[in-house]
Amino acid sequence: MANTRLVDSGGGVDTSGGSSGTMPKRSLVDEDIERIRADFPILKRTLAGRPLTYLDSAATSQKPLTVLDAERDFYLRTNAAVHRGTHTLAVDATEEFERARATVAAFVGAAADEIVWTSNATAAINLIAYGLSNGGDPAAGQTEALRIGPGDDIVVTEVEHHANLVPWQQLARRTGATLRFIPADRDGNLLDTLDELITERCRVVAMHHVSNVLGTFNEVAMLTTRAHEVGALVVLDACQSVPHVPVDFRALDVDFAVFSGHKMLGPTGIGVLYGRRDVLERLPPFLTGGSMITTVTMDGAEFLPPPQRFEAGTQPVAQAIGLAAAVDYLAEIGMERVALHGARLGERLALGLSKIDGVRVLGHGPRVGLAAFDIAGVHAHDVGQFLDDQAIAVRVGHHCAQPLHRRMGLTASTRASAGVYTTDAEIDRLLGAVAEAADYFGRLR
Ligand code: PMP
Repeated sequence: MANTRLVDSGGGVDTSGGSSGTMPKRSLVDEDIERIRADFPILKRTLAGRPLTYLDSAATSQKPLTVLDAERDFYLRTNAAVHRGTHTLAVDATEEFERARATVAAFVGAAADEIVWTSNATAAINLIAYGLSNGGDPAAGQTEALRIGPGDDIVVTEVEHHANLVPWQQLARRTGATLRFIPADRDGNLLDTLDELITERCRVVAMHHVSNVLGTFNEVAMLTTRAHEVGALVVLDACQSVPHVPVDFRALDVDFAVFSGHKMLGPTGIGVLYGRRDVLERLPPFLTGGSMITTVTMDGAEFLPPPQRFEAGTQPVAQAIGLAAAVDYLAEIGMERVALHGARLGERLALGLSKIDGVRVLGHGPRVGLAAFDIAGVHAHDVGQFLDDQAIAVRVGHHCAQPLHRRMGLTASTRASAGVYTTDAEIDRLLGAVAEAADYFGRLR
């Protein structure tokens, strides 16, 4: 296997997430962030007399009042079953629900009928993976259905979150297909193995946009071009990009993409599957039942076109409306400014951590506001406990990326991740506390 990196050092990284246009110069300034923070009451909390420093936004973000209000208003004024009733409330609820779909679609450069609601990103990836093994049912008019089988390859990278790995492992088991992976080096850089791995046998390439451990951007354009050259479908895990940079799935030319509402200021319980219209039309459903059919007999059923074909049963209506409010909130700030803020905080974080004796920062190159690190000889759980004692919330463990940690020679790391409400002072508080932790545990050794 070739041992050269896919790219030398972050070259060609598209931090604009596929959007066109030039970035404005102005990041968020202190007054902007102060105003933003006023919308997030939870950030005013103190823990044992210390101000909360929330640096776990990559796990889940905090929610502004407009999101909470949007959900509450829906229940207070409009709550009814969507796509079913003919009464006024049902019609209004359906309109709000579909307006939310259009809002989210426009945010990621998609048409409304290319957006499928799911419960989270994990459910969205499973929907694709099960769809790909449910194909070929002529009774359902699926003569053109996509179907994975023996002899086919599914290619993932070694940097994926488990949500973008385990469903593909299971799909390979169910169908007799082979799962292959693009390996990473000890720093998490993907190695240039595309010619060996993305061949005519390859039917699916599933990859991250931004890594939830490294915080850096994947070479989506290069991998997508190669995948399409051999006729493979591209599935993009955009969980850590959509909240932080402008993203346009059409411009990125991916076939499918997924993300979760709760990481982008929205509610839990709502995820998004984007599918290019012609691809969604060929994908068989995963879950079947009510709300996704046209006609049902005792012998079979005919399905609605996408997106309803993939939305069996009662949908997370209030959550979709809450997610649209989150999108409106982000759009009002402006995603270019959100991206500049994240990039600036990410750099401050990574640079500051790299100056602390014994600290290894994971990942190199332009990043969102996220950095994971290891303190030599100190377990991440001890670091997390030390920081929690100072009311600093970070994530410790393998962050659902065990293969990547193994490749980097680690079992766990500590991850600090910022949001649009994070201040420079909070990053500096974290850096000071990590320096203290390195010193404290270093002296114990
Ligand atoms: N992919 C990435 C890169 C993630 O960071 C996460 C969340 N940790 C997921 C997938 C899964 O998201 P969810 O748990 O909301 O389904």
